[in-house]
Amino acid sequence: MIRLTNIHKYFGKTHVLKGIDLTVGKGDVVAIIGPSGSGKTTLLRCINLLERPQDGEVTIGSLHVRCGAAKKSEMTLLRRKTAMVFQQYNLFRHKTSLENVMEGLVVVQKMPKEEARRRSLELLEKVGLSGKADAYPSALSGGQQQRVGIARALAINPEVILFDEPTSALDPELVGEVLAVMRDIAREGVTMIVVTHELNFAREVSSRVVFMDEGKIVEQGTPRDVFDHPQEERTKRFLSRLN
Ligand code: ADP
Repeated sequence: MIRLTNIHKYFGKTHVLKGIDLTVGKGDVVAIIGPSGSGKTTLLRCINLLERPQDGEVTIGSLHVRCGAAKKSEMTLLRRKTAMVFQQYNLFRHKTSLENVMEGLVVVQKMPKEEARRRSLELLEKVGLSGKADAYPSALSGGQQQRVGIARALAINPEVILFDEPTSALDPELVGEVLAVMRDIAREGVTMIVVTHELNFAREVSSRVVFMDEGKIVEQGTPRDVFDHPQEERTKRFLSRLN
């Protein structure tokens, strides 16, 4: 359903992604782990072409894009098939929770306002924020803001939600509530790709773990494969440093 083929990304002369191949099936929850600077976030941002690889191909569903030659219209179509949850939430500061969730439905999908409002209220309830529909981001905790971010991502019914270290900006006591929401939506079969430092989350929730180092996928498999029976030295080293 999602396929990345031979993705290469340079920042200037720095070769950050060195030929990444990755296939993600419908309903998969893929955790991308690895040392800081290994290219995890860049890879995530290449999936929706927020970063444009110099070489390689991205396929989402029936849409196939050659990155080096992507037309603007293709990039727009690709972005609409994905939603992203950012480390820093990226909510509109001057809009309420409800308006933040409605935005994509009304502006991009042209859904009638009343219908968008109904759907957005349902999603706020799903992430445990039905009482906060009229609150502005400044009145919400980081964990609440991130849950609005997740409701906003769900609203557009994307083929995949890309999570970029969604809990790393949060105070430790707020991490659990965000992970709990992510666990719920994973159970519902939403396809998710999650860059994360939360190895317990990766172990418990993901269907597949991808370990990256120095711009390459070193190893991937079920959480049990990667965490309990890593095959590669670099994976073993990374995991042992964290234990
Ligand atoms: P990770 O998510 O694994 O920590 P990143 O994808 O953020 O790694 O970064 C991979 C490498 O690319 C790092 O060396 C980082 O400094 C570099 N990099 C990331 N974004 C940019 C950018 N916009 N400009 C220049 N270098 C960047």
